[in-house]
Amino acid sequence: MNTPPPSVAWHAQSPESVLEYLKTSIKGLSASEVAQRLAADGPNELKETKAINLWRLFLGQFSSLIVWILIVAGFIAGLLGEWVDSIAILAIVVLNSVIGFYQEFNAEKAIAALKKMTAPSAKVWRDGHVVAIPAAEVVTGDVLEIEDGDLAAADARLLEASSLRCIESSLTGESEAVEKKVVTLDKADVPLGDRENMVFAGTSVASGTAKAVVVATGMQTEMGRIAGLLGEATLEEAGEGTPLQHKLAAFGRLLVWISLGIVGLLFVLGLLRGMKFFELFLTSVSLAVAAVPEGLPAIVTISLALGVRRMSHRRALVRKLPAVETLGSTSVICTDKTGTLTVGEMTARAFYVAGQSFEITGEGYGPDGKVLMDGKAPEAAHAASLLELGNVLVGGNNSHLQQVAGQWKVIGDPTEGALLSAGGKAGGDKERADKEQPRHHEIPFDSDRKRHTVVRLMPDKLLRAFVNGAPDKLLALCTHVLGSDGVRPITDADRNAISAENSTLAGKAMRVLGAAYRDLEPTPPESLTADQVERELVFVGLTGLVDPPRPEVKDAVSRCLAAGIRVVMITGDHPQTAMAIAHELGIATGDNLAVSGIELEKMSDDELKQRAPQIAVYARVTAAHKLRIIRAWKANDAVVAMTGDGVNDAPAIKGADIGIAMGRGGTEVTKQASDMIITDDNFATIVAAVEEGRGIYDNIRKTLQYLLAGNTGELLLMMACILSGLPMPLLPIHLLWINLVTDGLPALCLAVDPIDADVMTRAPRPRNERITSGSFLGMMFFTGVLTAGVSFAVFLYGLRTETVELARTHAFATLVFAELFRSFGVRSETKTVWQMGFVTNIRLLLVVAVSFIIQITSHHSRFIADLFRGATMDLSDCIMLTAVAAIPLVLLEIIKVFRSAASSRTRGSPSSSPCTT
Ligand code: ADP
Ligand code: MG
Repeated sequence: MNTPPPSVAWHAQSPESVLEYLKTSIKGLSASEVAQRLAADGPNELKETKAINLWRLFLGQFSSLIVWILIVAGFIAGLLGEWVDSIAILAIVVLNSVIGFYQEFNAEKAIAALKKMTAPSAKVWRDGHVVAIPAAEVVTGDVLEIEDGDLAAADARLLEASSLRCIESSLTGESEAVEKKVVTLDKADVPLGDRENMVFAGTSVASGTAKAVVVATGMQTEMGRIAGLLGEATLEEAGEGTPLQHKLAAFGRLLVWISLGIVGLLFVLGLLRGMKFFELFLTSVSLAVAAVPEGLPAIVTISLALGVRRMSHRRALVRKLPAVETLGSTSVICTDKTGTLTVGEMTARAFYVAGQSFEITGEGYGPDGKVLMDGKAPEAAHAASLLELGNVLVGGNNSHLQQVAGQWKVIGDPTEGALLSAGGKAGGDKERADKEQPRHHEIPFDSDRKRHTVVRLMPDKLLRAFVNGAPDKLLALCTHVLGSDGVRPITDADRNAISAENSTLAGKAMRVLGAAYRDLEPTPPESLTADQVERELVFVGLTGLVDPPRPEVKDAVSRCLAAGIRVVMITGDHPQTAMAIAHELGIATGDNLAVSGIELEKMSDDELKQRAPQIAVYARVTAAHKLRIIRAWKANDAVVAMTGDGVNDAPAIKGADIGIAMGRGGTEVTKQASDMIITDDNFATIVAAVEEGRGIYDNIRKTLQYLLAGNTGELLLMMACILSGLPMPLLPIHLLWINLVTDGLPALCLAVDPIDADVMTRAPRPRNERITSGSFLGMMFFTGVLTAGVSFAVFLYGLRTETVELARTHAFATLVFAELFRSFGVRSETKTVWQMGFVTNIRLLLVVAVSFIIQITSHHSRFIADLFRGATMDLSDCIMLTAVAAIPLVLLEIIKVFRSAASSRTRGSPSSSPCTT
């Protein structure tokens, strides 16, 4: 309805006429209007061609060679009149595809849901307020609030802009940030790259702030048109398979060829022995089916997808599936301080102005509280200088304080909120300032300059710049100081006194901010750049803010240490503040160092690499330093996770092995560059995610071990019998049954095994460790020999004493029981079944119990026994066989006990091993 034809040249229209055309205003739309427009125009999304395609998923189940061999075998059996075999084989094929389909469908759904959760958001004016909404709900006529780090949610015409620069490389290929202004272009026919009064969907904001009205959404945007031309969305894929999945797929292909080779060999041998051709054919096919772990890719996907879902419940949203594997091998976590290690809620506790220190009382951001001097109200002489400080704190402030249900909350930056609250206690008045000294210009805070300036038009028609920022940096820009008897040139003694006070406060873990101002001649805003304004300042005073550590972080840090993971703090704050908190949290110990950005600049890459393991804290750093820190650790063979929130952090987030964006404080650009988003900005969440990552890897490994060792056992048993000229110990139906039920079902339960409590007591796995390592293959082969051994022995004994049918029934039962038993043992490589506990994986217990019951009834029911081509047997036999089948598990468990005893003697616990290099 309101969608104008795409031919309208918005850039050649004045802001007013665009607003009029779109029937909206600078205060945005009403909720009811939005609902209508959303219904008419559809959501603001690029059409994805890759929705979950049920058909494709289902047909995918029939893409493997093995399945087709089975189908052909089933039909041949039917043609030859072997009805039972034929139906059983085809039933198994169908069952297998249905299970596979169901698993993959679930996995895809989980991934799609995750994609939704990590979708970008936008800030828009609705019903007269700014609200954050999912970008998909933006409609034409919405007024966007844009700031640095945002991704433009739609194509929009600028209404207001201050120092706005956008990166439009995704649209125009131009990698430099381009400047944006509110101007109205006089020509309609201008290339995209020159439409400087527009922002385009999918491009990012490098700096500045703006207000803009949305003119096109979804497929109507410039990005949408390109996507439409390409025929498919250019959105990032959620996952085209992880490195582990690729490795396993390659391994699986290798297994197919190896097992086909072995099966072919057995086939030829059997023929030479004069076995019946068709019987041999069916056996070989079944054996091939048994040997190849077809279920593996599905199981890996399930492990990953369910793991990712579990992580989202623990407030870690994984954006890229490979991150899950990498997480498990993380050896260094580089983390922000403010808001991640600390609560991020600041309270001012100390002032320093005109050579005098003051305490501040009162909790939180509320106005209740006083400024005290040695415990008493300050004298009138001091009140004047306190008021000056209050005026700068309030005047140079962007935040608002608001009482919600009795609690005072900050709208805006917590640091500024605390300064505003403290400024009020010192006598400043924000409302009055806004009325009497209107804002003229702003130079926003950035983490490189580490200060923030607001220029106001004073009643005397002069401009005054209120500057708040890092004291050490600010002091260097000051030429004057506010003393007890007014403003005077600053002396070295003043500087030393201020620095000393700064150190004292920082040593108490306080975040210290300096306040300064400068009077300027009236100038238009354009010429008020940071270089022009932030110099020749008058220094006013210091404010000390406390920001207590998050209560759960100390424990999370010690869990990292136990897990052989280094925690490194990276902050823009003062080294002393940072170090005080690092000590409190256990991140820094006696011989650890804090390095400042300035020292870092002086170090060569080599030197940094050498020293990185000793450095626990990087302070007063800029985003550019983060990349160097990552490289230094990587050069030490570490797997590095790095957090970030600002636009400037995006390169570091991309460069880290695991880039972690903050869900609350993070910008859209960092989120989109990240591998994982933590929704509560909490360090403890990162540690939880690492734990999940390790658990998921363990589960994949144990499932793989279980399946492959089982297959090895079957192959070895069949090979032994064919080589020694015995009858077949297992018939095709037996092999298929073991493959699907005995191995398949427990494998599913193992893939989602609860995470073992001890995953965080081991050292991280090396970066390039193969899941199918030497010890893995050794264990697989050894286990195969054991299970094949007991079944072979039972078969031999049966052949001596009973009929072939009964011997076969016994061998089959033994193998099944042994596999079921083994599923408990494989859950841990170090802990015994008793230590793990039987009821810690209820699903597994149920599956095994049901399989047992089916197996036992099959030996007593003529019907099922017929199906399995076996004989019935006594309960006493069953008990005997169960005992024999327990032998492999018992042996494997005994070996575990000896191995872990030996390794704890030689290795010691990982927590005491050096985890730095
Ligand atoms: P971090 O988030 O790592 O603690 P920041 O980059 O946010 O560090 O801040 C670095 C320094 O910049 C702080 O120590 C403080 O001195 C100053 N600073 C931070 N926020 C503001 C702000 N809103 N206004 C002025 N100065 C600030
Ligand atoms: Mg910060």
